[in-house]
Amino acid sequence: QDATHQQTLRVLLAGPRGFCAGVDRAIRVVEEALRRYGAPVYVRHEIVHNRTVVEGLEAKGAIFVEELDEVPEDGHVVFSAHGVPKSVPVEAERRNLLYLDATCPLVSKVHREAERHFAGGGPEQRHILMIGHAGHPEVVGTMGQLPVGAVTLINDAEEARTIQPEDPTRLAFITQTTLSVDDTAEIVEILRERFPLIEGPKREDICYATTNRQEAVKAISHESDLVIVIGSPNSSNSQRLREVAERSGATRAILVPKLVDLDWSVLEGVKTLGISAGASAPESLVQEMVNALSKKYNLKIEERIVKEESVSFRLPSPLSGEEK
Ligand code: SF4
Repeated sequence: QDATHQQTLRVLLAGPRGFCAGVDRAIRVVEEALRRYGAPVYVRHEIVHNRTVVEGLEAKGAIFVEELDEVPEDGHVVFSAHGVPKSVPVEAERRNLLYLDATCPLVSKVHREAERHFAGGGPEQRHILMIGHAGHPEVVGTMGQLPVGAVTLINDAEEARTIQPEDPTRLAFITQTTLSVDDTAEIVEILRERFPLIEGPKREDICYATTNRQEAVKAISHESDLVIVIGSPNSSNSQRLREVAERSGATRAILVPKLVDLDWSVLEGVKTLGISAGASAPESLVQEMVNALSKKYNLKIEERIVKEESVSFRLPSPLSGEEK
């Protein structure tokens, strides 16, 4: 069909979108491990929450497992970007596994904060409230830095309002890195009001990538009839982006893992389409979507970049050194 006869669709691309520095590093860890040690390299849990990334690494020789007992003796195993409880490297050492830790440095930073507040269980010890979502591997990993009972999870504002800590004067809070900036600010406010002596980071532990992607999706949402967030349903930051889009004025916002999952009927009547992608979704998935749209519509693409990013992380040792 001649493009001039096609319906026009305005596309607003949110920027920044897609891969963050922690995800990029975690993927490079697996690739570099495969290059140095050869296949198979085992990866405990999805390295990042994206099927396309996982399948791409599987094709190169990575084997994804949920627990270390699935890794044979002498195997190389990578821990995912979300971080792991302390018991996991201990178990890896006990079994003589060669492990590489792809935990995002911004998650490790929260682990260290938690340890600082716990103060080795000494007289300075504070009870820690972790704002986050139950069951997410990052939450499991962060809570697992300290003994059971040292950290209480706060899932939402209601729990912040009702928690009755043993000593309200000796508290600290930490957060998951991929939460909604606005919801978390509300929860922190409740905690600070109820427990004025609570210690915590200046704002919260939500990372730069989560913050920037939410800001970027907000900037396009009020103009969009539909916002598509490319990302997997188990990706926390992608889910939050979808919610933020809907709350910021998009008529509708949906999560689409990749092009094949798109139900084209959602585009009926849409004049302006916003597109973003979660921190674990590769840019190739965005381009694939835009290409497919360009075959059906006369596209008018505008990219709205609210912030430039230049963060990148070095690989963990022993991968960071030059190979002999
Ligand atoms: Fe690290 Fe943030 Fe990316 Fe998570 S979303 S891997 S904390 S940079």
